[in-house]
Amino acid sequence: MDHIDTVIIGAGVVGLAIAARLSQTRSVLVIDQMGQFGEHTSSRNSEVIHAGLYYAEHSLKARLCVRGKGLLYEHCKRFHVPVKQLGKILFARTNAEQDKLAAIEAQAKRNGVHDLTPLSRTQIADMAPGLRTSAALFSPSTGIIDSHQLMLSLVHQLEHAGGTLVCHTRFESAEQTASGFALRLNCDGEAFKLSCNTLINAGGLFAQDNAQRIAGLSKDQIPQSHLCRGQYFCYQGPHPFHHLIYPMPEQHGLGIHATLDMAGQLRFGPDTQFIDKLDYQVDAQAKARFVEAIQSYWPALDPERLHPDYAGIRPKLSREKGQDFVIEGKQHHQVEGLINLFGIESPGLTASLAIAEYVEAQL
Ligand SMILES: Cc1cc2nc3c(=O)[nH]c(=O)nc-3n(C[C@H](O)[C@H](O)[C@H](O)COP(=O)(O)OP(=O)(O)OC[C@H]3O[C@@H](n4cnc5c(N)ncnc54)[C@H](O)[C@@H]3O)c2cc1C
Repeated sequence: MDHIDTVIIGAGVVGLAIAARLSQTRSVLVIDQMGQFGEHTSSRNSEVIHAGLYYAEHSLKARLCVRGKGLLYEHCKRFHVPVKQLGKILFARTNAEQDKLAAIEAQAKRNGVHDLTPLSRTQIADMAPGLRTSAALFSPSTGIIDSHQLMLSLVHQLEHAGGTLVCHTRFESAEQTASGFALRLNCDGEAFKLSCNTLINAGGLFAQDNAQRIAGLSKDQIPQSHLCRGQYFCYQGPHPFHHLIYPMPEQHGLGIHATLDMAGQLRFGPDTQFIDKLDYQVDAQAKARFVEAIQSYWPALDPERLHPDYAGIRPKLSREKGQDFVIEGKQHHQVEGLINLFGIESPGLTASLAIAEYVEAQL
């Protein structure tokens, strides 16, 4: 049986970031069931580098987002990954929302984000003409990134260090051995066996399913998985925005906000909708809801120019309340050499390089 030090299940941005980092000191193989890296959540998101404003103090989301943001901007410079630090306008429309805005400002400070600045009415009118709002904050460290190029840079880092990415290869199961794991993989329809010392389950939406197939891992160490789809609509036509525009967050998402991609294309979303099975279709019927939400802050929206775009699916751990990332090693589940990553929803892209650091420290 072939042996490799570390096998990582999943070539999304998180698996690749971990692989790029660990390959500097050990032999690493990353496998993905799809034909290419990043075909699930990592290529179906807003591509926003988040500042780290909302998350509960000391949570992994807060710590890894703030740390990851800095690492990501440095990485982009070093590896020439396209990035734009556009900044974001976070706005409130009612008195109740102004209280929320003040609470977010305080939370951001507790998370170590000290660069938020209040915008006057004149500044709002200059920076986002036509935006209907009564108060706003500007977050200068928020940006956008080309996530495909980011993943490509991580693959290059991995391969440069002697590591390997193999696609069309599915993790089937793992048995514990004296020195690690015996893995059963399926490579393009053919069964394949491999042994490793360390196994990292960065399977995103499939992480729980993978964990079920790791012998020795107690079932109560595997959190429930809930799929929460986020749909986007793109806007084809002139618009006044040069920054990202965010209303107040909602229970499961950040509200239907406006982001720009690297080409300057404006898009709105994602919304939030729990679903029972993986389905990336955008429901054209959702347009009326989008129009209503957007016109509440940008009345000049022309509905004719709004078109269904794409959808991503958040790997949520609960339908009721927000949950932190779960990144668990031996200290939690007593399986030597295994790290499971569950619930890596937003800000997982921003946090990816910091997640890699955290995983390395756990090992
Ligand atoms: C709508 C939406 C918007 C978002 N916006 C942002 C944002 O603007 N900024 C931000 O920071 N974050 C954002 N996120 C979160 C971010 O996209 C994710 O946290 C990140 O992409 C997760 O990466 P991952 O590698 O964990 O998962 P994935 O990209 O899903 O990768 C997991 C991989 O594992 C593979 N895999 C699973 N099981 C197996 C198996 N058994 N065998 C082989 N391969 C397997 C899958 O094929 C997949 O490629 C958003 C998420 C969503 C859904």
